[in-house]
Amino acid sequence: ARPPTRSDISATQARMSAHVASSVPARARVYPRASTVSTRRASATGTRARFETGSSRADRCRSLSARDGCLAGASRVPCRASTPARSNARFAVSALDAAMPFDNEARAAKRLRKLKIGIVGFGNFGQFLARRFIQNEHTVIATSRGDYEDAAKKMGARYYRDPDDFCEQHPDVVIFATSILSTEATINSFPVQRLRRNTLVADVLSVKQFPKQLFLQRLPDDFDILCLHPMFGPDSGKGTWKALPLVYDKVRVGDEQSRRDRVDNLLGIFADEGCRMVEMSCEEHDRQAASSQFITHTVGRMLGSMELADTTINTKGYESLLNLVNNTSNDSFDLYYGLFMYNKNATQELNRLELAFSQVKAQLFDRLHTLIRDDIFDIDGSSPEQLKKAWEKAGENMNERGYKERLIDQVNSTGVIGGSRDEHAGKGAESEAPSR
Ligand code: NAP
Repeated sequence: ARPPTRSDISATQARMSAHVASSVPARARVYPRASTVSTRRASATGTRARFETGSSRADRCRSLSARDGCLAGASRVPCRASTPARSNARFAVSALDAAMPFDNEARAAKRLRKLKIGIVGFGNFGQFLARRFIQNEHTVIATSRGDYEDAAKKMGARYYRDPDDFCEQHPDVVIFATSILSTEATINSFPVQRLRRNTLVADVLSVKQFPKQLFLQRLPDDFDILCLHPMFGPDSGKGTWKALPLVYDKVRVGDEQSRRDRVDNLLGIFADEGCRMVEMSCEEHDRQAASSQFITHTVGRMLGSMELADTTINTKGYESLLNLVNNTSNDSFDLYYGLFMYNKNATQELNRLELAFSQVKAQLFDRLHTLIRDDIFDIDGSSPEQLKKAWEKAGENMNERGYKERLIDQVNSTGVIGGSRDEHAGKGAESEAPSR
């Protein structure tokens, strides 16, 4: 291809000026006098335009259409933009930038800020979270009642047996991953005064109203509070966290940008892992969790105590029951008890579960009784005549209806027909009276 001539260049410049003037919104078209590259956002088109003013011809040799992405970058055509504000200013839009979603770079930069995360309660769930935080290149320090020095070292975290030492490391965020039952006592004895002022305190308890109230009562006013509930655990979240729900409530976050960014940074870890981010009040969480999570744990525990085993003819449904048992049986009883004790909606859900179970059972037994009744009223060899005879022979003044009603009463009260079917059906009714 021949190199562009002066007239080619002028023509292209004119085209580009017209095009860009129509595609870049007025706000973005007012750019400063600065002599080097400055970046402004062309928000209306969802693209980013790099404006150049007063730069050299070589520098200016980058152009493209911001709106339709048709790039002249390959031939590097210089351009001159005419704008309402400064008609002699020049700019170009880089292809790479134009293809990026608006504001992505700023968001990524925010998330890139690494946090020093302190975990209080380094049990099953605390360690599970720590591993993922470390994978995401955050610094993790931990403290707990037990000795987790080795476990921490193995995953690349630092462990402080003494909570004072832990707090003096001044983590950006402190996450309580203690059992629901022990959280109140742990907070009461926790040396919060040794933490940095404005520390962000979060929790991952499976109930939410309780820690929210506890934090609001016990933490200094200048601490930020974020209540979290990752609705998954070491088993269900062993692999990817994609689409797993993370419920959060920004209970108290200071106005300063840095404090809001810190919260976003922490939430960003879960978002970047693919979690489904659900912002919800702690109260609403507890209402919904009682009828979902608590019931799941209860049914899992019930089935677990039945010791269900693999069979050679497992159906998909049965396998999901086995999975449910698997997913819940590794959780501590403290956790399950906490779900019950510290969620005021749990008792009601437990009652509903019990009622539903009795209703289903009653349905089965009602059907069974109906079958038995039908059976009683339609028995070979027990014609009304025969039954009557049998009772007369036994010296009882009972008609056929009376006899059958008596049998039905028996079934209703005991669930079974006492004695053999023959006995009640009047087989041999000619010879002897049915037993009662
Ligand atoms: P957990 O039995 O609920 O809690 C174990 C943690 O609590 C350990 O770190 C333990 O510390 C600490 N702890 C227990 N009793 C204590 C006491 N008297 N004083 C001080 N600390 C005490 O089991 P978990 O599964 O690890 O759950 C931790 C938290 O995460 C719970 O609040 C739970 O609701 C929440 N969560 C769990 C899951 C899950 O799937 N497991 C999912 C989401 C949220 P030591 O080991 O040092 O004794």
